[in-house]
Amino acid sequence: MIFVSLDNGSYREKKNKYSEFSQRLIMKPFRFNLPTKIVFGRGSLSRLGDEAVRLGDRCLLVTGRSFARRSGYLNILTEILEESGLKVTVFDKVEPNPSVETVYKGAEEGSKNGCDLVVALGGGSAMDAAKGIAFLLKSKARLEESFAPNEVGEALPLVAIPTTCGTGSEVTKYAVLTNIRKKRKEVLLGEPLMPRVAIVDANLLNSLPGELVAYTGFDALSHALEAYVSRDSTPLSDFFALEAMRIILGNIVEAVEGMAEARENMLYASMLAGIAINCAGTEIVHAMGYYLTNYHDVHHGLANGVLLPHVLRLELQKGFRKLDDAASTLGFENGTGLVKKIEEIADKTGIPRSIRELGVEESELDAMVADVLSYERNLNRHPFPPTPEDIKKLFIVAFSRRDSST
Ligand code: NAD
Repeated sequence: MIFVSLDNGSYREKKNKYSEFSQRLIMKPFRFNLPTKIVFGRGSLSRLGDEAVRLGDRCLLVTGRSFARRSGYLNILTEILEESGLKVTVFDKVEPNPSVETVYKGAEEGSKNGCDLVVALGGGSAMDAAKGIAFLLKSKARLEESFAPNEVGEALPLVAIPTTCGTGSEVTKYAVLTNIRKKRKEVLLGEPLMPRVAIVDANLLNSLPGELVAYTGFDALSHALEAYVSRDSTPLSDFFALEAMRIILGNIVEAVEGMAEARENMLYASMLAGIAINCAGTEIVHAMGYYLTNYHDVHHGLANGVLLPHVLRLELQKGFRKLDDAASTLGFENGTGLVKKIEEIADKTGIPRSIRELGVEESELDAMVADVLSYERNLNRHPFPPTPEDIKKLFIVAFSRRDSST
């Protein structure tokens, strides 16, 4: 069941009007591959053994430093895997925004124990570290020589089990790893990184604190909107992006408040948004957010959540009308109506109104702009590749409090 409650009474009328004029899609060539088997539903964790045993004999179970052990899930997963006949080695040392060093350590552990399968339990951090480890265990290459724009050609099979509702990493071809010395996010990219199986079980979100539902939910919303405006978007990626937006806008507030059905909806929507970024990528919001994470330890999704409304307003100011199309499809008057809705839910879910509240100072402005410009791949996907002045202007606006009255 999709639990959606968009509070716009005239949705149907506007949708019909929209459909009359906008039946024709702007087609372009695309390639779509989703090799991931998705096992979705409450209780689907019990399928882990059956799925994993088809993929290997010796499993490296990769997870973070606290949640899995504290919640008891580490024991539950180990038991399920062992009862299915797998030998299990645990690597539970993944930190938020996993570093390249952690991935090497995990690979060493996997190699010592002859692992031929990786299982990831956690948020984007654990899943991405697991992807990096799966790559190193198969290819023996160095991470530093393999980051995008290079594409990796091989990796061990991976089963991904998300416990947050944001990154969609359980279905993406990306692993985002941090180079701590350079204070930089690097991306490992390639279809072999796409998990063979994603077990998507909303029971795992029961203990997720409301603020992490908000932060990871805003990450998923950023994915949907960035994929939608991306130069690499196609009608198929728009389909996933729009559905993700619709579900997130209708569920995020209740999900943050703790409603179980709304959380399950968010988990589903974040997976759809992951499929959208597989096709169309992320762009300026992520490029700007990386600075806040790398230099101020701001949660990835929170950084995106604070920046997203400012970027959308700039896109509208520059006359980028595709946002009006999204707004119309979703039942809003125009793009500004959609952005106001996003600002309203940001207020309701505790997303700060300014980057000053995150500890960032104006004296950092030039360094911030230079850092963003270094994420060229993201910026090039933007409908109008932003100039240094655009980025500076965006950060200056983001220092002042978000104002949704206009
Ligand atoms: P996270 O994985 O860093 O987890 C954040 C915190 O939540 C951790 O302390 C973790 O222990 C805790 N946690 C996780 N699940 C929990 C639960 N159910 N209950 C209680 N606590 C729980 O956060 P995230 O937002 O999921 O992932 C962020 C990372 O993902 C960043 O490194 C980001 O760059 C990356 N990312 C990757 C992709 C991709 O496609 N691979 C896409 C977007 C973001």
